[in-house]
Amino acid sequence: MPATRKAIESELRSLLRPEQFNDYCPNGLQVEGTEQIGKLVSGVTACQELIDRAVATGADMLLVHHGYFWKGEDPTITGIKRSRIQALLAGKLNLFAYHLPLDVHPELGNNAQLGRLLGLRVTGEFAAYQGRNVGLLGEFTEPMTVGALHNLVTDRLNRKPLIIGKESAKLRTAAWCTGAAQGYIGEAIDAGVDVFITGEVSEPTVHIARETGLCFVSAGHHATERYGVQAVGNYLADRFQLQHEFFDIDNPV
Ligand SMILES: [Zn+2]
Repeated sequence: MPATRKAIESELRSLLRPEQFNDYCPNGLQVEGTEQIGKLVSGVTACQELIDRAVATGADMLLVHHGYFWKGEDPTITGIKRSRIQALLAGKLNLFAYHLPLDVHPELGNNAQLGRLLGLRVTGEFAAYQGRNVGLLGEFTEPMTVGALHNLVTDRLNRKPLIIGKESAKLRTAAWCTGAAQGYIGEAIDAGVDVFITGEVSEPTVHIARETGLCFVSAGHHATERYGVQAVGNYLADRFQLQHEFFDIDNPV
């Protein structure tokens, strides 16, 4: 049964509270499509392949974590941006994008979902950005070695992580923040945890981890951010009786 775009937009607004964030991009409806929505496709990034597959499957709405119109980017609609937006408009697809609000939602967000997947119990927050904490602190339900965490991440995220740390070291507490949060390694150290799990890694991250003894896990930007958008997609599907499919457009980073 289709729902109206307005009803879905208002549900997402009260669920994710985008007005509470000073984000790098507009959160919410970014490109307007058809008024009635019966089928929703979710994905991590609004790349061309995701749009094309969503159109081909007859979707009316695309829900993503990485949309368009980022601060500092060229605001003109040229090149690949033109092709993507042209495909969205031609397919009458509504593009909804939620960045930080989707990372930090306490149940459906990327951080909460990743924590659940890795057996982490939340005990607090860290990683301040514009007055909000965008990362979580917690402990493993079962303390494990670095080697065991390597296997767990590989198994749950279907991707081998890069880990800096001694294989036999025991891990009890963790800080985690999905995506490109490697810059928060200093805050993870200050929080006194055994391991910091994020998506990406930079050259200095490795030295900081080695020299402080903090175990560092780069589990993939894409891989760590697959879960929030699926959780919100399932929530909407349930709430409005929509069809929902998640398309995983693989990205090794
Ligand atoms: Zn991201």
